[in-house]
Amino acid sequence: MSYVIDPPPQPSVAIAGRAARFPVRRIFCVGRNYADHVREMGGDAKSEPPIFFTKPADAVVESGAAIAYPQNTSDLHHEIELVVAIGKAAREITADAALGHVWGYGAGVDLTRRDRQGEMKKAGAPWDIGKAFDQSAPMGALIPAGGHPTQGRIWLSVNGAVKQEGDLNQLIWSVPEIIATLSRSWELRPGDLIFTGTPAGVGPLQRGDVVQGGVEGVGEVRFSIA
Ligand code: MN
Repeated sequence: MSYVIDPPPQPSVAIAGRAARFPVRRIFCVGRNYADHVREMGGDAKSEPPIFFTKPADAVVESGAAIAYPQNTSDLHHEIELVVAIGKAAREITADAALGHVWGYGAGVDLTRRDRQGEMKKAGAPWDIGKAFDQSAPMGALIPAGGHPTQGRIWLSVNGAVKQEGDLNQLIWSVPEIIATLSRSWELRPGDLIFTGTPAGVGPLQRGDVVQGGVEGVGEVRFSIA
């Protein structure tokens, strides 16, 4: 195969303790999936089905990186999330079978241009400009699925001060429910990542901030804003 331009590099995520990497195909994200975060954003947790949006695969950034403060925002927000990595293809997956499609888990941050997202919400327009920008998905190393985490602390700190704190047992839509619902609209394929939503405490980042976050039993992610 020859191409008229150089093919873009394959985005990928590190795997804990291994040199081999996980190639990223697509990134799905769930909005409003922890009750206390839904309330802080002015919503009602139980009244709506899960909301999905996407980021480009090459939005992933290696843990430890310095991320440039993005263009076109003055309100960059952090959202720490449990990330699910899909290893087996299917559509119409039942919740009972869903965990068999999970390759592993990681901790990631759904960076958000909150000002642009707010404008799009108000206009009833797509969230892409608020969510799907370059370097908007810093990711820690994945761990292969041994068990499947259903509880455990999820947290994020900025310059050492804890800003977000919750527990995976507060997810409104569980990982099996998310996989089942997504697979009714897309055939999930190996390489797909799913960001599963963020607990309360989202807030702004400034140039020079050092961000650390993690999911108990899964892993950690860190980066700075340059
Ligand atoms: Mn999010």
